[in-house]
Amino acid sequence: MTQDTWRNWAGTETANPKRFATPRSVQELSALVSGAARQGQHVKAVGAGHSFTGVAVTDGILVSLDAITGVDSVTPDEAGGALVTVFAGTRLRDLNEQLWQHGLAMTNLGDIDVQSIAGALSTGTHGTGARFGGLATQVRALQIVLADGSVADCSPTQNPELFEAARLGLGAIGIMSKVTIRCVPRYVMHAVEAPESLDATLDRLDHDRSTVDHFEFYWFPHTRRVLTKRNTRLSGDTPTSPIHPIRSYIDDELLSNVVFEGVNRLATRMPSAIPKINRLSSRVLSAREFTDRSYRVFASERRVKFREMEYAIPAEALPETLAAIDQWVEKSDFTVAFPVEVRFAAADDVWLSTANGRETAYIAVHQYHRRDHERYFSAVEAIARDVDGRPHWGKMHGRTADDLRPAYPNFDEFVAVRDKYDPQRMFDNAYLQQVLGR
Ligand SMILES: Cc1cc2nc3c(=O)[nH]c(=O)nc-3n(C[C@H](O)[C@H](O)[C@H](O)COP(=O)(O)OP(=O)(O)OC[C@H]3O[C@@H](n4cnc5c(N)ncnc54)[C@H](O)[C@@H]3O)c2cc1C
Repeated sequence: MTQDTWRNWAGTETANPKRFATPRSVQELSALVSGAARQGQHVKAVGAGHSFTGVAVTDGILVSLDAITGVDSVTPDEAGGALVTVFAGTRLRDLNEQLWQHGLAMTNLGDIDVQSIAGALSTGTHGTGARFGGLATQVRALQIVLADGSVADCSPTQNPELFEAARLGLGAIGIMSKVTIRCVPRYVMHAVEAPESLDATLDRLDHDRSTVDHFEFYWFPHTRRVLTKRNTRLSGDTPTSPIHPIRSYIDDELLSNVVFEGVNRLATRMPSAIPKINRLSSRVLSAREFTDRSYRVFASERRVKFREMEYAIPAEALPETLAAIDQWVEKSDFTVAFPVEVRFAAADDVWLSTANGRETAYIAVHQYHRRDHERYFSAVEAIARDVDGRPHWGKMHGRTADDLRPAYPNFDEFVAVRDKYDPQRMFDNAYLQQVLGR
């Protein structure tokens, strides 16, 4: 954050709040919210600003929880895991390290680790793995500062409706101050990455999806090539063999960031070269295999700036949806240098989870930040809508409350909890009005 302007990571959103605040305790946070309530000001918590949408924007007080961090308590359970209560501003990167020291890990994670736990939960952050849910499914209890400044505890048995709404609450219900997560015994991950053909990958999809713990693939538009990632969980005491630091520097820093930035700059100047570039990129990728602490395998550095839209669709609709995107790309004159990311999740029961009630496949489309994304994203959005797709709450999309309501069985229950706990709309902003209504 600078003195008076806040910008999100992608540079798609800015805010000029009346005030920035960084409370140092839950008591200070509660006093700040009750003061704002008396003055009729909007308040919005912000994490790492890694949402592409305006979900974290406010014209009132922008509250960072960067000083309300760390592990509060660890209560071991009989299965070797634990209930871990963590302050809401804790960044996932720090949490993962601390959990490892306690012999623990998060059940599943997304592909970066800079988010705050509360920010990641609030937009439905997920990873991949058909047996695993998104981060919100791992929450067992919450402490939340409500619109009047009071501090409430909730769980499936205490204020259950508040819990159901707030664990994936878009920042609309209150400001989380503590989160209790069910953690599992720490585990190591064996990663196998390989270039393959799209057709062979789709032929084997049911098998890979159901047998590989964490399966995902990246499809290079304008080609029939993909990069597959198969990650298998191993017990926490398995000896690790991480990628050699030089190979890691070449693959993860040089190729994924420095060279990729150069490729995208070139593609921006010569978009007609993109199909050729993609064919080349998909071939120069070499297979690699390594074993490392799970959280190190899940997350990577992403420094090339891009825009992203991600749709959750019924898992069985994946092949037809990818085929429709491929057809659109081939028919249009639009060129895309970024691979399309495909991931999976188990059905869950979190009210606003994009995987609510159904086995889910995720299709994420990206565009370099210096290039136009709108035509591509609208085309993919129309294709995903045809199969009852739900957009990621933290990534770009054009959906509104009216057309999101039928996509979520508990949408009206969520709105009723918002009405009850924030009747004056203290936590409101333009994005929430768009996706939830006024
Ligand atoms: C490079 C990149 C990679 C990504 N990878 C993935 C991925 O693998 N999987 C995936 O699902 N998503 C992914 N995302 C999206 C990202 O995980 C989400 O947008 C997430 O919400 C960002 O967390 P944040 O801490 O930056 O939250 P912010 O963007 O700062 O805020 C998000 C929301 O959380 C609210 N919030 C923050 N703190 C609190 C609090 N204490 N109480 C209540 N509400 C709060 C904010 O008000 C806002 O509504 C990625 C984004 C980027 C830029």
